[in-house]
Amino acid sequence: MRTVFVNGEYLPETEATVSIFDRGFLMADGVYEVTSVLDGKLIDFDGHLARLERSLAELDMGKPDAFDDLLEIHRELVRVNGIDEGLVYLQVTRGAAADRDFAFPDPDEVRPTLVLFTQSKPGLADSAQAKQGIKVISIDDIRWGRRDIKTTQLLYPSMGKMMAKAAGADDAWMVEDGKVTEGTSNNAYIVTGNRIVTRHLTNDILHGITRAAVLRFAREAQMEVEERGFTIEEAKAADEAFVTSASTFVMPVVEIDGQRLGDGTPGPVARRLREIYLEESRKAAI
Ligand code: PLP
Repeated sequence: MRTVFVNGEYLPETEATVSIFDRGFLMADGVYEVTSVLDGKLIDFDGHLARLERSLAELDMGKPDAFDDLLEIHRELVRVNGIDEGLVYLQVTRGAAADRDFAFPDPDEVRPTLVLFTQSKPGLADSAQAKQGIKVISIDDIRWGRRDIKTTQLLYPSMGKMMAKAAGADDAWMVEDGKVTEGTSNNAYIVTGNRIVTRHLTNDILHGITRAAVLRFAREAQMEVEERGFTIEEAKAADEAFVTSASTFVMPVVEIDGQRLGDGTPGPVARRLREIYLEESRKAAI
């Protein structure tokens, strides 16, 4: 049984509870972060913490009481749950007011809810799926306009994964005004020759922590990086494609809307970037 963290306490998962009036539950009024764990250490922790702080500020949500102890809490959960490879999931909500109300509660009276738990994922780095690559389909992006904030409004991304599954694929790339925004839970890239193309950063996409690191490593490895939108047609004609996220690192994409890319196996740029990312992240893990 896992030990989880809820509002200042470490508890067995079956004893951890939040109120039915919690605004995370009633309104999806919450933000989250997922930090991966390799060799029992946290990957890109500072980036996730900085993005959490930004998400909270953008939504006028207070910092949870234990904000300054978050590194320590992550480490303690990894330790007590014996996580070698896996994730730490963190969620902050605007808390539980006395009753349901659209208006935000007074932050002095209602404190944010803070929940963290671990997920053990043996084989996260040496992933069979990464050796094979994933298939994606394209779907309309009908999410709200502040995708730069990592909120818990994940119904449409969940539906997107189900649409992919129904089509015999693994994930969906979302398209708005003719251009790919991102994957349901990852940033999307195409590669032609030595050039990597991925959408530029605006409110239209989440500013991936893995994206920032991977683009830095790509530039250091003398790869060309172009940050702009691209169409599904351009993607289908690319040499290769991949996605990035904290939980999948660099994941090759081998098929888009039924069209195989190259010979249908992970491309050299995606494979190399995955290697570099894993190597460098392990070195910098805390
Ligand atoms: N885009 C979306 C919509 C996501 O949900 C995620 C991760 O959950 C990402 C991109 C990748 O972000 P990160 O690399 O910080 O995990």
